Amino acid sequence: MSKYICLICGRKFPQGQGIIIKYGRLELAFHSNRCASKFLRLLLERIPPEEAEGYVKRLRDELIEAIKEKMKLKQKRI
Ligand SMILES: [Zn+2]
Repeated sequence: MSKYICLICGRKFPQGQGIIIKYGRLELAFHSNRCASKFLRLLLERIPPEEAEGYVKRLRDELIEAIKEKMKLKQKRI
């Protein structure tokens, strides 16, 4: 069984556990949500906002829309 090593804290963990993110040709492994969110914070600190802001905004808007849809469905059921 192949083992992964957490990119943030160095902890080893087996396949099927933790969080594996594939991005292009890269594979990023994190043993926990906490380590994955730390990586996300570090990543966002390094990307100039003027480059990624559009993507982040679009994703945020999509997620907000999805939440609104969910709330609408819930209200209809009541
Ligand atoms: Zn970790």
